[in-house]
Amino acid sequence: MKISSVNTYQVPPRWAFVKIETDEGIVGWGEPVIEGRAATVCTAVEELSDYLIGQDPANIEDLWTVMYRGGFYRGGPILMSAISGIDQALWDIKGKACGLPVHQLLGGRVRDRISVYSWIGGDRPSETAKQAQDAVARGFSAVKMNGTDEIQFIDSWDKVARAIDNVATVRGAIGDEIGIAVDFHGRVHAPMAKVLIRELEPLHLMFIEEPVLSENLDAVVDTLRATPTPIALGERLFTRWDFKSILSTGAVNIIQPDPCHSGGITETRKIAAMAEAHDVALALHCPLGPVALATCLQIDAGAYNAFIQEQSLGIHYNDDNDLLDYVVDRSVFEYVDGMVKIPTGPGLGVQIDEDYLKGRAALGHRWRNPIWRHRDGSLSEW
Ligand SMILES: [Mg+2]
Repeated sequence: MKISSVNTYQVPPRWAFVKIETDEGIVGWGEPVIEGRAATVCTAVEELSDYLIGQDPANIEDLWTVMYRGGFYRGGPILMSAISGIDQALWDIKGKACGLPVHQLLGGRVRDRISVYSWIGGDRPSETAKQAQDAVARGFSAVKMNGTDEIQFIDSWDKVARAIDNVATVRGAIGDEIGIAVDFHGRVHAPMAKVLIRELEPLHLMFIEEPVLSENLDAVVDTLRATPTPIALGERLFTRWDFKSILSTGAVNIIQPDPCHSGGITETRKIAAMAEAHDVALALHCPLGPVALATCLQIDAGAYNAFIQEQSLGIHYNDDNDLLDYVVDRSVFEYVDGMVKIPTGPGLGVQIDEDYLKGRAALGHRWRNPIWRHRDGSLSEW
């Protein structure tokens, strides 16, 4: 079998798909995108197609290695997201060629379903209690919310008090059985992170996410090691080597690689195994589309340290298209009792509605991350 074509499609709400075709008619799909730079990643995919056309799609490790090491410069969000989408499509082709789901090709499953959690509250933590109750009513067993809105290096106590009050209100609304994760979103700098982590401790969170940007982790390593609240990190890290440095701090309890950014299935499995050897849990990041979620579930199937899966159904970014719009069989992502089954169809286990996708690609998108400002006019981390 030989790869015959590689094409990308940018579609709403903020996604990109790649379709890899072969001379035997088998087709694979991936999602090569970094949020806010979809066109740049699609250009990288087009450039990488020079290494793919005419090659046997079965040799995924070699193709991955050529794409990663063969360009001399490596890593980072653009290149790794391009490789990720291509890698997903190659696994999809291999599974379809063998008539097996990808997780069967990776050694089989350790679980047949996994817990899923839902975002509540959008970009700003307001009206979260009602949304949390709605999420529980829809069957989710855990929710994730933003901890703060704009917060400066050193900020006032009322911001801290409001953050605590928001989380406490959610805890009061949904009780102790439902997990609550609080995402600091890399918005918080070390001085305020220390305060917030301490004040949130009594609320028994499932985890705190991105307490600071990972490049600033050194500044709060002692705080993170000391808090009983599990610390999660990793949606902005891209390779084994990025995760090696984070795992070596001993300050992170849950890693959150995004298989649309962290090198696809091939690399993310290796990252998951490295984390398991540190007794660190896995919660794959996934605010993107159906191929992204199917990819995550194929990895979750065989990763012993996976405990929960993010998913984007109804997420605030999906205002003009949602998770299920691009798939033929929506039942593949049916959530029951807060869990979703591992897809068992061949390849990644989802079938893309290609006519619909091409119609939406004609529309495209120019999604950009919001630009926030502090009261003094300086940029705030979003
Ligand atoms: Mg996050």
